[in-house]
Amino acid sequence: MAFDSLSDKLQNVFKNLRSKGRLTESDVKAALKEVKMALLEADVNFKVVKNFVKSVEERAVGQDVLTSLTPGQMVIKIVNEEMVNLMGSETTEIKLKSGNEITVIMMVGLQGAGKTTTTAKLAGKFKAKGKKPLLVACDVYRPAAVEQLQINGKKQEVEVFSMGTNNSPIDIAKAAINHAKDNNFNVVILDTAGRLHVDEDMMNELIEIKKNVEVDQTILVVDSMTGQDAVNVSASFDEKIGIDGVILTKLDGDTRGGAALSIKAVTGKPILYVGMGEKLSDLEQFYPDRMASRILG
Ligand code: GDP
Repeated sequence: MAFDSLSDKLQNVFKNLRSKGRLTESDVKAALKEVKMALLEADVNFKVVKNFVKSVEERAVGQDVLTSLTPGQMVIKIVNEEMVNLMGSETTEIKLKSGNEITVIMMVGLQGAGKTTTTAKLAGKFKAKGKKPLLVACDVYRPAAVEQLQINGKKQEVEVFSMGTNNSPIDIAKAAINHAKDNNFNVVILDTAGRLHVDEDMMNELIEIKKNVEVDQTILVVDSMTGQDAVNVSASFDEKIGIDGVILTKLDGDTRGGAALSIKAVTGKPILYVGMGEKLSDLEQFYPDRMASRILG
């Protein structure tokens, strides 16, 4: 399970804090130093850790905490609150237009991040909300990607719109939206091409799609197991094409959790969902408070 190591370390720090009836300023500072080490070892962004510890310290060394009946508990509560804040406080929903108006969602990300799988997972979520999603194969470079989307679409009982690999992604997206209008689909999800690394061609293609097609939401899929790389990838996609939110995949295999704790603070963009496995049902809405409880135990 994700965060095991971070959870263990933080719980040890908390156990020590709880066991003391009284706390001095230096007790709190020593505990926060350990919290800082644990977060850095979990691959949380350095600046994020620094600001986090500073915010906790500002609230935790005051007299009202130190002279309270349960100072240890109060420090723990502050750590918890600041961790929820770090991850964005509240759950962000993907905004869908009401009724039969079409919402166009563009899925972007590096190859292997889990974009195609996540696209199909999302379609299942929208279907469960009573929406009629259409998946669109815009990756014209890898025939295998088109095929994979078709297989996953079939599993989800969601239609997949494809024009093979001989048309431009822009033409495919436009044709798909017309198809959606004619057939009462109300969510169109574009599965775009990824590359192994952030490169200019990929970004330019995505920029062109956005220029030519009215995209309502751009959602970035990143692999949690790549830690700070996932954070850097998020920052560069946001800078180049503008993203509305992030879906963090493979959290089930991420023992450190640095990306989950850093993305919102570094990019300002919320985590919308987390991928918790390979099955198409393994997608969970992201709740900052539940995630903090999971980490802090
Ligand atoms: P794409 O290249 O970004 O479209 O990536 P794919 O959708 O093909 O996914 C790459 C691999 O990651 C596949 O083997 C998926 O089954 C796997 N995968 C995707 N999401 C998750 C997840 O949340 N957890 C786990 N364990 N595997 C995932």
